Amino acid sequence: MQSGRAKVLVVEDEVSIRKFIAVNLHRNDFEVLEAGDGETALEIAESCLPDVVVLDVMLPSMDGFEVCMQIRQRMPQAVIIMLTARGEDMDKIMGLELGADDYMVKPFNPLELIARIRANLRKVPRHSPAKGNCLFFQQLMLDLEGQRFYKNGREIELTPTEFAIMKVLLSNPGKAFSRNEIMNSVWGRDYFGDLKTVDVHIRRIREKLEDDPSAPRWIETVWGVGYRLGGGERF
Ligand code: CA
Repeated sequence: MQSGRAKVLVVEDEVSIRKFIAVNLHRNDFEVLEAGDGETALEIAESCLPDVVVLDVMLPSMDGFEVCMQIRQRMPQAVIIMLTARGEDMDKIMGLELGADDYMVKPFNPLELIARIRANLRKVPRHSPAKGNCLFFQQLMLDLEGQRFYKNGREIELTPTEFAIMKVLLSNPGKAFSRNEIMNSVWGRDYFGDLKTVDVHIRRIREKLEDDPSAPRWIETVWGVGYRLGGGERF
């Protein structure tokens, strides 16, 4: 993954809408992070420092306004675009007063959202991509600094070896890594171990990560090669 692409955090509890926005952002070359509630959004914002936050007003427990205020306090540079329902004029005004940069009324054309994001990013002075110290893919997030791994905002405890393997896979989602490549990256080139060690660790990670470890969707086996990070959730 190139750095330099703008990172967008999409905060929306309605999965179909969130996915729809995420897919369109992906297609337009943004890096996308997702959160289904405000608490998760704040956690992700803190560790990944998104350039842009697309934030729905209607969220369970902590609402979009509260999230907006908190993100604004911590990240004055982030572009915040609120999503409001049709006709809720008060929502728009409140959002802007609380520090949002822009708003969109649902339902909207995703291309319009992308145009707004680009326009708002141009307004940010001396915009440089944030350097969040984490890797992420769909609902997975690896916090390199804190050595923590999350799925859907929930922490999954990994051993240091498992963490190092996930770091390799998450460094290039969709790429098939050979067992040898994984072993070299994790243990170093001068380590001569049994390649089956990789399989054992992968099996343990799957037990923690996969809904059904016998039918893995996150860590896919590439026959004759090794493993790759696949989409746990199909778009
Ligand atoms: Ca919502």
